[in-house]
Amino acid sequence: MFCRNCSAALLPNANVCTQCGVPAGQGKHFCPNCDAPTDELAAVCIKCGYSLNQPYNTYTVNGVPVQKKSKLAAGLLGILLGALGIHNFYLGYTNRAVAQLLLGTVGSLACGVGPMVSAVWGLVEGIQILTGTINMDANGVPLGD
Ligand SMILES: [Zn+2]
Ligand SMILES: [Zn+2]
Repeated sequence: MFCRNCSAALLPNANVCTQCGVPAGQGKHFCPNCDAPTDELAAVCIKCGYSLNQPYNTYTVNGVPVQKKSKLAAGLLGILLGALGIHNFYLGYTNRAVAQLLLGTVGSLACGVGPMVSAVWGLVEGIQILTGTINMDANGVPLGD
């Protein structure tokens, strides 16, 4: 991402541009996606096609905006409902989610520790999500706040 005011490169979650002090996403001089100069009235960047009116932190895949999943929601789901794999369903890691769901449900029939294993597994993943060790969903889209 680039500062819309001065075109300085910004960290993905920066709130303010460290070059010019303008809040990230404010300003109309440069494309946040490719750093090209943009007209103040332009709705899209003529160089890369990025839609300039969308919320600043929108993540795009091949120019198409995608919704970032919430890191906080995913982390809490892992900690609270990790035994059922809910956080992995949320993030799209379906195989892992089904494994946890099976462990957390029918796993108790096979051997009593199934749900405990999946609960600890989910708890650890929930913490990894909150601390940023797991920082993207199954599609490779970074997690939002
Ligand atoms: Zn700036
Ligand atoms: Zn652009």
